[in-house]
Amino acid sequence: MTDTHTNTFHCELAWLGGDHAVADVLVEVAEGRISRVSPSEGPVQGAVRLHGLTVPGFANVHSHAFQRAMRGRTQSGSGTFWTWRDQMYTFASMLDPDSYFLLARAVFGEMVLAGVSCVGEFHYLHHAPGGQAYADPNEMGTVLLAAAREAGLRITLLDACYLQGGIGKRVNETQRRFSDGSAEKWAARAGDLLRLQSADIRIGAAVHSVRAVDPDAIAMVAQWSRMHNVPLHAHISEQQAENDECLAAYGMSPAELLGDRGAIGESFTGVHLTCGSAGDVRLLGSARATVCFCPTTERDLADGIGPSVAAREAGASLALGSDSQAVIDMLEEARALEMNERLASRVRGNHSARGLLAAATVNGHRSLGWRDAGRIEEGCLADLVTIRMDSVRTAGAGAQHALENAVFAATSGDIHHVVIGGRVVVRDGAHISLDVAAERNRHVIRA
Ligand SMILES: [Zn+2]
Repeated sequence: MTDTHTNTFHCELAWLGGDHAVADVLVEVAEGRISRVSPSEGPVQGAVRLHGLTVPGFANVHSHAFQRAMRGRTQSGSGTFWTWRDQMYTFASMLDPDSYFLLARAVFGEMVLAGVSCVGEFHYLHHAPGGQAYADPNEMGTVLLAAAREAGLRITLLDACYLQGGIGKRVNETQRRFSDGSAEKWAARAGDLLRLQSADIRIGAAVHSVRAVDPDAIAMVAQWSRMHNVPLHAHISEQQAENDECLAAYGMSPAELLGDRGAIGESFTGVHLTCGSAGDVRLLGSARATVCFCPTTERDLADGIGPSVAAREAGASLALGSDSQAVIDMLEEARALEMNERLASRVRGNHSARGLLAAATVNGHRSLGWRDAGRIEEGCLADLVTIRMDSVRTAGAGAQHALENAVFAATSGDIHHVVIGGRVVVRDGAHISLDVAAERNRHVIRA
């Protein structure tokens, strides 16, 4: 590939939403959108040939960019989610807008290399250490938007309300920089972000969790998200302790409390649900909400296995996120959803490769407010991710099994071309403008 603005791509194999890949597909692009998808009789002159399996861009629905600084540094010693959280607070206390921009640009660059065309950044690192607002109260959010743009992917900034350090508890020293003090102040600050929305930026709302946001504030954030017609996300039942506290304080599970306060509907995404009950699953499913699983993080933090089959069967849409960035590999997230289920149920084949790819693409984009993305289809945003089918991991499976081969054997290291909004951003496995590994080495956050 030589031209970053080439308008026609010839896919050796493409996933167009069905059970199998289709051979020889021509994708024409105009002004960043797919203008035509048609069969082709072999190579076409002037078209960029994409060798391997081309799928739509991945949506990484749940990300905390700053937690990438912890990779490898939290893997010694024993502990639980709660001891990991203490380590995470140390890293969170060290970032300022300049260092956060450099870190996030590299993290988003790593995501682009892994085929992510849109990230849902669940953002609560709002203020300076101690809780003082920066001169621009949205400076930390703004640097995330700039980092995404430089890395070449779209972003939905999910601005999270975070007001208390646990049910009925004040925020601690570290958590102070997460808090706006009240839901009204959160809404005023988040409202200021809306003017930054553009072709590659959307703003969404988030309730950090029922631990961090009281019921009246949950209702206010939910109402704000409806008023502005933006997605609403929340962590739900990542840990049993959250369920126990919520039940003791309010007589309801976290999902029931969120539902009671008007948060749960089609625009809602609940993240984790690792300790969710059958009733919570029914509540989210009947509302046609999205449940976002983050299996590489959930296993890393010893959270448990979320009810992905039950959620799907109840009517929820499934999506995936890299969350703590223990690894950034959407194929691994997709594969882990099925592999976790196999370990828990001792039955194979709970999710199909097609269903897992839908979670990583079209479902995820919908959760982030991009209904015109995640499909290789006329009118959709032109996001194309090509996975090598001739690497040591993927060679030999044949076109008939390309989807299964991609989901169950490939890694982000097999992604060698990425087109986002019609623009080539990864060519032959390299980012066109960033040396991502060098950036990470140059700007190390040490805690
Ligand atoms: Zn999270």
